[in-house]
Amino acid sequence: MQLPIALAAAVIAIQDVSVIDVIKGKAMPAKTVIVKDGKVADIVGRAPRNATLVVDGKGKFLIPGLWDMHVHIRGGVESIPDNETFLKLYVANGVTYVREMGGDIPETVFAWRKEIEEGKRTGPHLFTSGPKLDGPKPSWPGSIPVANAEEGRQAVRKLHLMGADFVKVYFDYIEAPVLRAIAEEAEKWKMPVAGHFARNLTIREQVEAGIRDGQHARFYLLQGSCTDERYVAREFIKRRNSEKPMGFDEWTKKLMEEFNPAQERSLIGMLVDNKAWFTPTLAVGAAGLTVGMRTYHDDPRAKYIPANIWKSWDPASGIRKAPSDEVRSLRALVQRKGLEFIPKMRDAGVPLLAGTDTGFANNYMFPGWSLHDEISLMREAGLTNFEALQTATINPVRYFKLEKTHGTIARDKAADLVMIDGNPLVDIRNTAKISGVMVNGKWYGKADLDKLLGEAAREAAISRK
Ligand SMILES: [Zn+2]
Repeated sequence: MQLPIALAAAVIAIQDVSVIDVIKGKAMPAKTVIVKDGKVADIVGRAPRNATLVVDGKGKFLIPGLWDMHVHIRGGVESIPDNETFLKLYVANGVTYVREMGGDIPETVFAWRKEIEEGKRTGPHLFTSGPKLDGPKPSWPGSIPVANAEEGRQAVRKLHLMGADFVKVYFDYIEAPVLRAIAEEAEKWKMPVAGHFARNLTIREQVEAGIRDGQHARFYLLQGSCTDERYVAREFIKRRNSEKPMGFDEWTKKLMEEFNPAQERSLIGMLVDNKAWFTPTLAVGAAGLTVGMRTYHDDPRAKYIPANIWKSWDPASGIRKAPSDEVRSLRALVQRKGLEFIPKMRDAGVPLLAGTDTGFANNYMFPGWSLHDEISLMREAGLTNFEALQTATINPVRYFKLEKTHGTIARDKAADLVMIDGNPLVDIRNTAKISGVMVNGKWYGKADLDKLLGEAAREAAISRK
């Protein structure tokens, strides 16, 4: 896939800044980064005379634009304005790329993607799956139902024609040949397949079929780490169409009871053998534990969130309700297991991607802010600051095979940059101390970012009237 390079005949010089090398893990002090035509034109000692804008980078650090590898743009047409506000919030927080993992307003997302590339709209570069693929009775509105292999192939071709960047699968139950047909067709069109693992097949079967990027540590690694994965799958299948199907919490409880470290090691080895990626979405798991315990009304970020999405987060009006104490403590255990997976994956060499699951219906994932939380949780789980930074910079670029044009601050690379007040290699929380953002070669200084936040707050206030 190719990003159109946009914009401005201006020559922008970010002067005397420490450039962070996200491949070597080093800071290169006192550099001046020259940006022209949406690309890094050069890295030199001092700003050239023809610079139309010189940004003082003294004491600051420059990192490549951040990626959130799991967000949703959804909530029906009535939530389109809410999602527009979210685009601004991503930029204000230094998130210059998002991987949109499927929703119910794909035409809007495709239109926004184009407007952003053309410089007509403020927002992060959008990589989108378009609608998700799901079973005959989809869990989410807008998904394309798939009942057999031929429908699976057709659905992938349809996504390709729509302009989707990858395929998102969301099957709770799927026959292996259908999954393979989807993955084979996706391969033909060079679209990666990412998504949830189904519960009736083993993780190995699904990874080998072609899902090379599983989502959510909190359930899916447990599925592959239990003593007898087939046994849990069989129980799920047996009761699937009964009056008492196996719900997620009961299923999770069984997986926890069956957890086996030897199986976990073999699962991770299998992921390495298949060159799989992993997006653990740790922050949404952590926030989920707080649902029903606190309201977030006094959260300083609440004022930026428009009404429809806010209502979808509130357990009183949204689809995700406050869990019972028992379920909450089960989920806390699962969350801890998810964190424990992280350094094991790192040691084995499974590349990790930072993704938050921000969007309609996913409680209290604040656009952009939560990506910084996700990176910090990667650090807390045991990655180094450098490795945690890579999960939101170079790793997503490698995932989309965009290394030639993106991912590092170097000549001819895309000018998507974030200037921060502290060295992220020393403390990863510094990624949140943002003093400037460049998207597609357009510079947003501190005052511009504050203006974006102000607009978002105003839009949110109007939506509540
Ligand atoms: Zn999601």
